[in-house]
Amino acid sequence: AKAAGRNTMRMFTSDMAQAADRRLDLELALRRAIERSEFSLVYQPKLALATGQLCGVEALVRWNHPERGLISPGEFIPLAEETGLIEPLGQWVLAEACRVLASWDADHLGPLTIAVNVAAAQVNRGDLATVAEGLVRQYHIDPGCLEIEVTETAVIADHDRAQATLNRLRSLGIAVALDDFGTGYSSLIYLRRLDIDTVKIDRSFVQQARDGTRDGDIVRMIIEAARTLKLSVVAEGVETAEQAAFLQELGCDMIQGYLVGRPMPLEQLKTWILGRQP
Ligand code: C2E
Ligand code: CA
Ligand code: CA
Ligand code: CA
Repeated sequence: AKAAGRNTMRMFTSDMAQAADRRLDLELALRRAIERSEFSLVYQPKLALATGQLCGVEALVRWNHPERGLISPGEFIPLAEETGLIEPLGQWVLAEACRVLASWDADHLGPLTIAVNVAAAQVNRGDLATVAEGLVRQYHIDPGCLEIEVTETAVIADHDRAQATLNRLRSLGIAVALDDFGTGYSSLIYLRRLDIDTVKIDRSFVQQARDGTRDGDIVRMIIEAARTLKLSVVAEGVETAEQAAFLQELGCDMIQGYLVGRPMPLEQLKTWILGRQP
């Protein structure tokens, strides 16, 4: 029994060593990827329900790994957050979005607003507002074309610090949206305490939202709360025409999801926009 115990122990430690190896490999690859700029952004359109007009896009990061191909952010953002690599990556994402805004041909394609996701570390530790202000100047862009998406969990750690950052962004004219709304522990507290512009209802509520379902009632309540507080509301993860019709009936301002369009590379977004013009 003693020998078996020792073997188990040896196996356990070697498994752990392997897991640590893999993690280190991925961490090294991620570090190199930042230096070699293996990242790109894809853009998902957001529509105004009342008019059917495009009102902006959300930028979502992708990692074009030389051997493994496209890697989704769900796989590397958590690691980037744990290792601190999220700060250089987050800065690249923000700079790239500003570069695209500056190069956007508004005469030809119409105006564009880009929403950028930022991680907790960027809101709590970094100088996000200073960086954003520098980029707005450098690229001569309208700050009103930039939006920052934060999650509830990002503002938990140091609420005052986070609020100060968000206030500075908003005083620059950059809009702030609260992402994945409803998935945190005390979402309503954040609505009361944070000064923001927009609430994005998490897709886990949207997908089962129909008349008479509990999720439908929750979505209705969020939309009513947002309206009372004069915030605009985006429903994310809208996949069916039924969901869109239900949201429109409830007075939701904007929708985003596969029904409208999948996240796409810049060139494809341009074609998509031109294809919609009458
Ligand atoms: P998120 O900010 O909630 O972004 C929405 C996610 O839902 C995206 O996944 C998008 O592709 C997906 N999605 C959009 N419409 C639908 C739909 O109709 N149905 C379904 N099933 N999914 C839909 P993605 O691109 O894999 O991103 C996952 C998460 O990674 C994002 O969630 C965000 O939290 C994070 N992320 C992405 N880009 C960045 C970034 O540049 N910086 C940071 N810090 N986080 C990012
Ligand atoms: Ca988001
Ligand atoms: Ca979201
Ligand atoms: Ca999400």
